[in-house]
Amino acid sequence: MLATVLHKPGDIRCEEVAEPKILRPTDAIIKLSASCICGSDLWPYRGLQPVDAPQHMGHEYCGLVVEVGAEVRTIRPGQFVVGSFCLSDNSCPHCRFGFQSSCEQREFMSGAQAPYARVALADGTLVATSEVPPAELVPDLLAVSDVLGTGWYAADAAEVRQGSTVVVVGDGAVGLMGVLAAKEMGAERIIAMSRHASRQQLAREFGATDIVAERGEDGVSRIKELTGGVGAGSVLECVGTAESFDQALACSRPGGTIGYVGVPHGVSFDGQRLFFGQKRMLGGPAPVRRFLPDLMDRVLQSRIKPGKVFDLRLPLAEVTEGYRAMDERRAIKVMLEV
Ligand SMILES: [Zn+2]
Repeated sequence: MLATVLHKPGDIRCEEVAEPKILRPTDAIIKLSASCICGSDLWPYRGLQPVDAPQHMGHEYCGLVVEVGAEVRTIRPGQFVVGSFCLSDNSCPHCRFGFQSSCEQREFMSGAQAPYARVALADGTLVATSEVPPAELVPDLLAVSDVLGTGWYAADAAEVRQGSTVVVVGDGAVGLMGVLAAKEMGAERIIAMSRHASRQQLAREFGATDIVAERGEDGVSRIKELTGGVGAGSVLECVGTAESFDQALACSRPGGTIGYVGVPHGVSFDGQRLFFGQKRMLGGPAPVRRFLPDLMDRVLQSRIKPGKVFDLRLPLAEVTEGYRAMDERRAIKVMLEV
């Protein structure tokens, strides 16, 4: 089959690879309904994360189960499933505590920018719908797999509640999903920090009440102005750079909480600033599995349309252009037809 392989930074190809096979009795093989490119795929693509050997890319997926291993109990061929980028048994102490992304058996999904993929720990990782959903819901269900699940976790970790004031740092796909999540959780004020007209527009569609285009000190002043000099009770950090963490800390009120889901690159913390600032933080790879049943329900009931975040659709064969478009920020998020 043709699939996506990153050979070295900047060198992404659609090329012939072996079809996935059941390797362990707890595996499943799925036929993907669609795939997509993640903002985090850009880290190795840009050379900010080492590429030691050719990598099969892709960790966001939904589709039909075609085969299961001998020990798979609940997942069956023919089911439509959505899974997380973290593969988890959903039964160890960390999973039962709701942190499936720290599962004792955790693995990270790969090879999903392809027509078929192997999913390890199928019973723990995959959530099936009761029937095969209509094709028009596939982009929304695909978004649940990572980008919505991650934005949702950012809002959950930042303790967004009914009536909250929320700042979202980052207008990438995850930040936009954080806006949607905050809205669904009942936030009263959602301030999206964004400099790009098309992303501002989408943020408003997803529920942002205010847009702040300024960054750095000016951005912080604007947030203070909008919050009566106080800062926000919940801040979602959805980028992962030193500047964005700085912004998130400065926008948060004393006693406020920062949910951080951008993978930190070059970020370090000043202990005294955290101590005297009285900031609470929770983040890391999102335990998407915890949220999957609820988020899939919201999509199936057409309460939310997270698939709107895909603003470019390409056939898998044109994956090179997809990476380029996201790298150059011409596209927010690229869906791949497989
Ligand atoms: Zn586990």
